[in-house]
Amino acid sequence: MTELCEVALPVPLRSTFTYAAPASFAAPASGMRVVVPFRNRAMVGVVVANEQADARREGVREISEVLDAEPALTAPLIALGRWVASYYLAPVGEVFRTMLPPVVEVRAVRELSRTAAGTEYLRELEALEERTGEERAEVAVLRAFAAGGEPLRAAPLRRAAGGESAIARLLHRGALEARVVARRRTSAAVEFASDAPAEWAPDAPRPALNAEQASVLDAIRAEIAAGEFRVNLLHGVTGSGKTEVYLGAIEAALAAGRTALVLVPEIALTMALSRLLEARLGREAGVTVLHSALPDGERSAAWWAVRRGTARVVVGTRSAVFAPLERLGLVVVDEEQEASYKQEETPKYNGRDAALVRAKLEGAVVVLGSATPSLESYQNARRGKYRLLELPERVAQRPMARVELVDLREDFRHTHATRAVGERLRAAVAERLAAGTQALILINRRGYSWFQLCRSCGVAVQCKNCSISLTYHKQRARLVCHYCAYSRPVPAACPKCSQKYMYFVGEGAEQVEEQLRAEFPQARIGRLDRDSVRTQQAYRTILDAFAAGELDVLVGTQMLAKGHDFHRVTLVGVVSADLALGLPDFRAAERTFQLLTQVAGRAGRGELHGDVLIQTHYPEHYAIQAGARQDYHAFFEKEAQFRRAMHYPPFAALANVIVRAKSLENAARWARQLAAILGPEEERGLKVLGPAAAPLARLRGEHRLQFLIKSPRKTPLTQALTRALDACGEKGIPEGAVLVDVDPIGLM
Ligand code: ADP
Ligand code: ZN
Repeated sequence: MTELCEVALPVPLRSTFTYAAPASFAAPASGMRVVVPFRNRAMVGVVVANEQADARREGVREISEVLDAEPALTAPLIALGRWVASYYLAPVGEVFRTMLPPVVEVRAVRELSRTAAGTEYLRELEALEERTGEERAEVAVLRAFAAGGEPLRAAPLRRAAGGESAIARLLHRGALEARVVARRRTSAAVEFASDAPAEWAPDAPRPALNAEQASVLDAIRAEIAAGEFRVNLLHGVTGSGKTEVYLGAIEAALAAGRTALVLVPEIALTMALSRLLEARLGREAGVTVLHSALPDGERSAAWWAVRRGTARVVVGTRSAVFAPLERLGLVVVDEEQEASYKQEETPKYNGRDAALVRAKLEGAVVVLGSATPSLESYQNARRGKYRLLELPERVAQRPMARVELVDLREDFRHTHATRAVGERLRAAVAERLAAGTQALILINRRGYSWFQLCRSCGVAVQCKNCSISLTYHKQRARLVCHYCAYSRPVPAACPKCSQKYMYFVGEGAEQVEEQLRAEFPQARIGRLDRDSVRTQQAYRTILDAFAAGELDVLVGTQMLAKGHDFHRVTLVGVVSADLALGLPDFRAAERTFQLLTQVAGRAGRGELHGDVLIQTHYPEHYAIQAGARQDYHAFFEKEAQFRRAMHYPPFAALANVIVRAKSLENAARWARQLAAILGPEEERGLKVLGPAAAPLARLRGEHRLQFLIKSPRKTPLTQALTRALDACGEKGIPEGAVLVDVDPIGLM
């Protein structure tokens, strides 16, 4: 009898691999990480299933090492990983890599050994009367190996004079062989100070819940006590006190002997929430933060603290949905509609949807919270699949912010100027400065200008790798691609027609900041976007400065719109509500509505009353109208009509399939083949649109063609895509050439 293990390896393939457990050690259980040989390297994977076989199959290699004494992944997590892989058609090993802690126990070492041909070649070199410098270096490398002896580590050999290039030549002629092996680190290096010095946590006073909060919480508590899978959609306006409801639910889960998982849309929001939870729940709860930006050592230590059960509450971003909590009783997904829950790289999963599947596997209660639920979730609540819980009022009788739309066409008629901050908004900022309160100015574009255009030939300066115009960044004095990071100096003459009539179009955050500084030289103005804050630390510093009243005005991108609770903000200005509306995307209106509602929610959160000014060219658009009134129901009705008529989610299942290749010829050929493969699916009720040039027809030097596939239901869509990818494989289309995005958030 041999024990065969099905191992998921971090390679971009949709299959797992079979390895045998050697007789020398006990066969690893499902969920344990193992080191195995793959091609000519050692790789860390995870065992996802075992079977007893009578005979060893031909060509099955042996596991070299078992890393875990206890399974890293529990059975429900293995099931969840398999679901993610099959639903999103993602490479199974890459899914499990996302789920596992960073591998800190072993490191990869490159080893070299001398081949028979190498021994032969050494003899030839030694027989030469005179040797070139290159040959002398080769002799030195080859002599380092004892005949038929052990492989040597490559690093010291490379460091010798001429070693690096000698090794390259010797590998090329087959005189040396290279492989990558895994070496265990000494245990001292693996131990981490998991007990970081206790941070002082001020015990935030616990407000008495108002009647609505109490009744919502009672409903959730009853479900937690029942201990079964249930989904609640908590629709609460901004400032309605949803966090207190989450807190009460977490306490109930802990009291019931279960654990709790809280997902938030941004890394920046994990810190404040975890501090609050720790202050309220006490140290015993072991509140732990998990997100992908933690250094490997820290993340590994936190992950294992959760796995060993010392941490019972996890706060994290998308990937924390895989936190190895056991006896999971509650999952909270805050701002469930956020696009950041969807991973844009492979595996393209949605953390919210994975959370629902996980809760189902573990019999946990889910609370999806939002002021602007996604159409998907709200529709599920209307169909009775989720329970709808509502908090329609702000806490403590605080009024909703007053929202005013500023018609930029009017502004232009008066001023005949196109400035980012129009007359009305400028005056409103001046009022706040005079009153000594604060203003937030939202501009949803980075950089200084959207692009640089030639007046003579009408062409905008493009990225050399992508079919997109470059954005002008004044501080860096460069044109930058926001997709591939390519940048170039700002040309004085048009790269196409060489005429010197270049001008800049559109306003970004840098320009808005510059304009405000010019208009209000006395004001203390800060900017918050990915260019001005590159680290979490810098981000905290500027937010803390604003919260402490050291800044009067904060200009920023949508980073500003989320979650933060500033009490002295009495004005929120939106430089343009129109940006998202122009995108070729069925969620454009929803995005606009969500952004406006959230932004409006940032004003008047304390004792002071707040105003919101929204600049727009389309004041009559329903997303802008409903956003201004913060009227979710009106927006939902209108948007649902459009989605239903156009067969878009939530009234149809959707997948975006991109075929990409370095050469347009390959991309076009594979797309034609895929079209032929997908054709018959139309008879099964699917709708296949495409192939057409993708909105980004070139990205990072690759040509892209796009299919949109719609289906009345999800299961037939998954099945069709699985069949299609299998058929692509049979036709020899490389796996990486076909990118499938199930339930896409954006269609770019
Ligand atoms: P939401 O997430 O719904 O926008 P928060 O949970 O951030 O709202 O709550 C808004 C503010 O109201 C917070 O400062 C919170 O401490 C406070 N708060 C919550 N519940 C109450 C209550 N019952 N009474 C008074 N203040 C409350
Ligand atoms: Zn680019």
